[in-house]
Amino acid sequence: MVTMPSSVTGYHWTGPFLTTDQKSKCRQMSYPDDLPQISVVFIFVNEALSVILRSVHSVVNHTPSHLLKEIILVDDNSDNVELKFNLDQYVNKRYPGLVKIVRNNKREGLIRARIQGWKAATSPVVGFFDAHVEFNIGWVEPALTRIKEDRKRIILPAIDNIKYNTFEVQQYANAAHGYNWGLWCMYIIPPQDWLDKGDESAPIRTPAMIGCSFVVDREYFGEIGLLDPGMEVYGGENIELGMRVWQCGGSMEVLPCSRVAHIERTKKPYNNDIDYYAKRNALRAAEVWMDDFKSHVYMAWNIPMANPGVDFGDVSERIALRQRLQCRSFKWYLENVYPEMRVYNNTVTYGEVRNSKASGYCLDQGAEEDDKAILYPCHGMSSQLVRYSSEGVLQLGPLGSTAFLPDSKCLVDDGKGRTPTLKKCEDVLRPAQRFWDFTQNGPIISRDTGRCLEVEMSKDANFGLRLVVQRCSGQKWMIRNWIKHGRH
Ligand code: UDP
Ligand code: MN
Repeated sequence: MVTMPSSVTGYHWTGPFLTTDQKSKCRQMSYPDDLPQISVVFIFVNEALSVILRSVHSVVNHTPSHLLKEIILVDDNSDNVELKFNLDQYVNKRYPGLVKIVRNNKREGLIRARIQGWKAATSPVVGFFDAHVEFNIGWVEPALTRIKEDRKRIILPAIDNIKYNTFEVQQYANAAHGYNWGLWCMYIIPPQDWLDKGDESAPIRTPAMIGCSFVVDREYFGEIGLLDPGMEVYGGENIELGMRVWQCGGSMEVLPCSRVAHIERTKKPYNNDIDYYAKRNALRAAEVWMDDFKSHVYMAWNIPMANPGVDFGDVSERIALRQRLQCRSFKWYLENVYPEMRVYNNTVTYGEVRNSKASGYCLDQGAEEDDKAILYPCHGMSSQLVRYSSEGVLQLGPLGSTAFLPDSKCLVDDGKGRTPTLKKCEDVLRPAQRFWDFTQNGPIISRDTGRCLEVEMSKDANFGLRLVVQRCSGQKWMIRNWIKHGRH
């Protein structure tokens, strides 16, 4: 006999999540009687048993029983023993016949874990969720309705936050799901036409998904290639699916009337090298879907396009999928679905920039509020991302990626002191001040003043090195990477 902590058995709904206006709008909507059934897939690895059970109770309690065909729990090879026999026994007793448990006998990562869940599903529609979520009342009907109308829609319930330390639910503002050029997801402002309409219950067009919650027609998901099974552990699959569904004739939308709350945790109970896998998976998406824009992903991670030092595996099957589905270009997708993205197509070289007189040191944007370029020991992170454009602009620091974030600044010789400054490119008074001549293994010369960016030895500067603009003395600079176009 398994006894459960009261936080599990004494489960209560603690809403409301919605603004009064939105709530009443959502309540007024009516849905067809003959909606398709859903299979709900939860994946987990080393999750607290009580949290998994909260997710299960919540979906049972807040989904009409005739619409919920089954719940599929995918255990991605957890170590905790309570997630084995205890979990089985509890759910089978509490919900006989409703719950299937799939166990991976090795750790597959979240992408293949979700695919395992899809394989076990038998309903016309499948919903995929992290195993630490709670479902709002009425979450499923709007999602199923949108899919019944058009099976090529991928539906994202709007996400609210469950605070990890108190389990208090916090409603999030209506948002679309975007990402930066590193292919990290983030919430973004909904498209202007959605805002203009002023209807908080209307679907929000979204370029990609955060990923902890999505609902899709089961067969359609198979037809467009599920998630990329060559991706490992975590990250990037959510962005790749967004690019793919749009480029290949489907769509993706957030439904504000369908709400699911998700625990945002600060520590992950599995891999501590998430960054590496997110980078690796991002490169897979870039190579398959992004055409010449893939350079932006390499730039964002500040790695070379040839020999990036990351083995992203074989993408030939995914490229074949793209050809088979006859999908549109990434350019089309950007223009039509993610116009907020900034493009950096005029970049010719990028990466760390070193001076022959200061080995081991790189140009660096320094402290953000200082607006001064500095020399700093090379570490290859984004503060040392330098971009040199075909027009002759030198920019330092992480890509701004989207119109929602400030862009990297321009290196400027304002002709006044000897200190090179960093300014917002659009704020440079005389445009000529931001143009430089720079050839590999040659000087960096201001087109405005004819002075050179150089390194000066100085006892009172950090590391004994100061960056100055001065009369050219013949110092040489090297930049690391070239943009390569086409397949390689
Ligand atoms: N997950 C998994 N296998 C892994 C890593 C993650 O099954 O190797 C699951 C995890 O249990 C969770 C989901 O993937 O249900 C998303 O992971 P997480 O919640 O840590 O990501 P976050 O929501 O914090 O971005
Ligand atoms: Mn999660």
